[in-house]
Amino acid sequence: MGRAGTRLLRSREGARIGCKLGSFAFALTVQDMYLTMQEFLDCSGSDPNIQDGSFVKAAMDDCLLVIRADKSDEKALYDRIAWGIKLLNKHAKRLGLNFANDKAQLLLPQDWVPPTAGLPEGLVVRSNTLLNVEQQGIEVVGCPVGSIDFRQTFVQRNLGDVLRSRDDLKQLHPQCATRLLLQCVSACPAYIAQVVHPSATKEALTTFDDNMWSFLLEFLGGIGGDNQLKCCPEGLSRARFRAQLPCRLGGAGLRSWERTADFAWFTSVASCVAESDPNLDVGRAHFGALAHIAYEAAIDSLGGTSHPKVTSGELIPGDDPDVLTVSNFYKELFMDYARVNKTPLRLQKEFSAVTAQNAADELLSKSEGAHVSDSERITLLSKSPIMSHLFTADLSNIETRLSKTEFIISVRHFLCLPSLRIYPDEPDRLMCGCEVESCDNSHCERATLDWAGNHALLCHKGLGAQKALLLELELERMFRKAGGSPDRQPSTRNLLGKVFDREELAALFPGGLSQASSNLRAGFAMEYLTALHTRPSRERDEKVARIKSLFPTTRSGATPKDIGGVIRFDLCLTGTQPTDAPRALYLDHAIVHETSDSYQVRVLRHLQAGRTACLSVPFKKAEGEKKGRFGGLIKVAERLAREGFLGFSPFFLFPVVSTLGCMNVDMTKLLNWIQERYKQSLLSSSERLDGVPKSVLVGKFRVYLERALCFALLRANALALHSQGRPDVLRP
Ligand SMILES: [Zn+2]
Ligand SMILES: [Zn+2]
Repeated sequence: MGRAGTRLLRSREGARIGCKLGSFAFALTVQDMYLTMQEFLDCSGSDPNIQDGSFVKAAMDDCLLVIRADKSDEKALYDRIAWGIKLLNKHAKRLGLNFANDKAQLLLPQDWVPPTAGLPEGLVVRSNTLLNVEQQGIEVVGCPVGSIDFRQTFVQRNLGDVLRSRDDLKQLHPQCATRLLLQCVSACPAYIAQVVHPSATKEALTTFDDNMWSFLLEFLGGIGGDNQLKCCPEGLSRARFRAQLPCRLGGAGLRSWERTADFAWFTSVASCVAESDPNLDVGRAHFGALAHIAYEAAIDSLGGTSHPKVTSGELIPGDDPDVLTVSNFYKELFMDYARVNKTPLRLQKEFSAVTAQNAADELLSKSEGAHVSDSERITLLSKSPIMSHLFTADLSNIETRLSKTEFIISVRHFLCLPSLRIYPDEPDRLMCGCEVESCDNSHCERATLDWAGNHALLCHKGLGAQKALLLELELERMFRKAGGSPDRQPSTRNLLGKVFDREELAALFPGGLSQASSNLRAGFAMEYLTALHTRPSRERDEKVARIKSLFPTTRSGATPKDIGGVIRFDLCLTGTQPTDAPRALYLDHAIVHETSDSYQVRVLRHLQAGRTACLSVPFKKAEGEKKGRFGGLIKVAERLAREGFLGFSPFFLFPVVSTLGCMNVDMTKLLNWIQERYKQSLLSSSERLDGVPKSVLVGKFRVYLERALCFALLRANALALHSQGRPDVLRP
C-alpha cells in the first residue's frame, strides 16, 4: 500500500533467507493447515468427544505434532499418525506446497520398541530402545529430545563444531580474533544451555570453557609453549578466573558456561512457565527429578539458601523444589515485576549478575598464595571504568587499532600473565614456578622484568616523557575532533598577557623550584604588577626598577622540559564562551604507575581500606608536584585575568591517569571540557543528513573520549613493557 493504492508484488524467485515478508507470507499460507491439524488431533483420540491434550506446535515450516499415546494400544497411535500425514499431504497439495516425508521423524514414547507396522512410507522412526545413539532421539528447533546419551552426543557435536573456527581465528590479527572469540564464538552455547537440561550439558560446557581459554591464550602468544615464559598453575587459574568476569566487574568478558549451565535451563523453563502456555502447564508436572536437580543447582549457583537474593525470594523461592512443576511462583513473579518496573523480568540476566558478582568476590577473597604479588592485588582492586574498552571497543575506529604486539602486551598485562619473552637464554624461576627474566642492561643489575612493567621507568630514563607524549597527542586529537584548536606548549608570555619580557619570565618562573621559592617569586611578580598599575610618575618608575633589581637570577633549577628556562603548560585548549573573553584551559598532565616498587605498599594499603584509587599516593604526589611548579604562575595569571589584562579567562587543571586506568578529578573535568567544546560545535552545525540526533552524537562522543584515553594509555604501557630489558626504547 502506498499513495498509489494497493499494488501486487510478484514473487519471481521465491522467498529468500532473511526476508521477513517471505516468512510472514508463508506463515499466513500454512496457518489454516495447522489449525485443521489441531482439529483433527482434537477429535481423533480414543474418545472422539474428548480432547486428549494432543497438540500442534509450529515455527514456520518446522511443525511438531505431540500425540497422546496409550501403551496398551500401539496400533491406535500409528493409525492416527498415518491419518494425520494423509491429511497434511492433502492440504499441502491444495496450497501448492510439497510436503516431503523424508524429513519427517517420529519419536516413540519412552521404551516403545519398533517395528511399527502401518506407518506411512519414509517416516524415520526414533526410539530410546534402538542401539545406535544417533537414532535415540530427534532434534526439534535445534534442541535434542530423546535419551540422555542422544542429548549428550548432540550437545558435544554441536559445541565441537564451534571449535573448528580455531584455525580461521588464528589467521586474524589477535585483537580481531579476541573480539570475535569474546563476542561470537564463546557465546555460541547460549541456546543449548537454555534448552537442554544441565545433566546433558554440564560436562560438554566445561570442556568448551577450557577450549575457549586455550584459544585466548594462543592468540596472546602462548604460555609455556611457543617458546614463551611458563606461568604456574595458580597464576593461570587466577588469570582465567579474571578473564571470565564481565567487563563491568574488571574482567575480560569471556563467558563461563560452567557457571551458567547451573541455572540457564532452570531460568529458561521458569520464564516459559510464566508465559502460561496450557500445553506446557500440563507437561511441566512431569519434569520430576529433572526439575528438582535444576532447582538445587540454581540455588547453589546463587550462593546457597542463605544468600540474600534467595532469602528475599526475588529470583527463586528458598524452600520450594516444586517451583517448576506445580507452583505459580514464577507466573506471579514475572507479572509483579512487569507491573512495578514496566519492563519484563529477564531472569537469566539477573542470575548471571548475581553469580558474576559472587565470582568477583571469590577472586578478591583469595588474595594469598605463592603466586600472588602486590602488583596483582593492586590490579584486582583498582576499578577502572575505562580499561574494559580494550575488549569491547568497536574496532572500526582508528584510535582503537593496536599493533599485534601492542595488543598482546596489553592483554597479558591486563590478565597479569607473564610478559613476552625477550632473551633466548634460560629464564629464572620464581618461588611459585612462574618463569621470569632479568634485565641485561648494564646499569640495571639484573633487576627482575616483572609482568607489571615496574622496572620499565628505571630501565630507561626518558620513558616517562615518551609515555606522556603519547597521551598528549591523543588529548590534542580529541580536542581537534571536538572542533577546537589545541595549542601545544602554549607560550607562558602570552598566558601572562605579554606583561613580562622573556628575561623577566626566566627570572620569575624558571621551574624546578621548591614550593617556598616559587611562592617568593610569585610575590615579586605580584608587587611588580601592583607597581606597574599605578599612575605613571617618577616614583612609580623608581619602584618598578627597584622590584626588578630584586628578581632572582639563579636558573639552575630549570628542567629540560622548560624552553628558554621558563616553565610552560603542556596544552592549552581554548573554548568559545564567553565571546569577549573565552575560557581557556591550561593543563599539565601525568601518567603515574601505581604498582611501581616505591608506591605499591602504600597504594595497596589505601585500596584495601576501600578508598578510591585516585586519592592514593602516586596521584597525590603528581598533583602536589604540579601545584608546586605552577602555583606561582597560576596566581599571577589569575590576577591578570581578573584585572582584565588578558583577552581570555584562563583556568588550570592537572589531569593524572594511572597505568591501570584510574583518573583523578581533573582528568574527568578535562574530558567534560572537551565534550563541552564538542557540544558548542554541534550547536553551530546543521542537522546531520543521516538523521542521527545531536543528543545521541554527544553520548557517542563521550564514549569516544574514554575509549581514546584508554587506548592512549594502552599504547604508553605497551611501550614501557616492551622496552624494559632492551637496550633501546622501542615501539612495539
Ligand atoms: Zn606464579
Ligand atoms: Zn633494565
